[in-house]
Amino acid sequence: MMGALQHAPELAANVTLKAPVVDSSLCSMCGDCANACPTHAIDVDKEGTVSVQNPYCVGCGACVVVCPDGALSMEAFDASELVIPDKDAEELARQKAKAKAEAQKYLATGKDQLNKVGDALERMGDDKKSQ
Ligand code: SF4
Ligand code: SF4
Repeated sequence: MMGALQHAPELAANVTLKAPVVDSSLCSMCGDCANACPTHAIDVDKEGTVSVQNPYCVGCGACVVVCPDGALSMEAFDASELVIPDKDAEELARQKAKAKAEAQKYLATGKDQLNKVGDALERMGDDKKSQ
């Protein structure tokens, strides 16, 4: 999923992904969720805090099933969280936009100058006719 979103970040708006969210008031800090997770996406630290790394979660729900206290529930999260910013691509896009803006400016200036030359030629033609 991460690879697909990296190539086409705009797809994030069409994707619904779910990951576990813990209700710490119910959690007994047993660690069963971390032991059951096949991707090590969920962890319980020494202080008993449960944390989930959404990019590594495959949404299997195993942690929710094994939790003895019903402290976990699967909730939707924004899939754009999985898109890692590509600094090179962003810089390239910025340079392209700048080059396009400059080209449009030169085009506008060129058109303006052509119009002035056209007006001058027209006036010369009118002057010749009136002589
Ligand atoms: S839903 Fe599956 S992959 Fe995600 S944290 Fe729970 S056990 Fe791990
Ligand atoms: S399995 Fe449930 S009770 Fe145990 S640590 Fe995980 S969230 Fe807390």
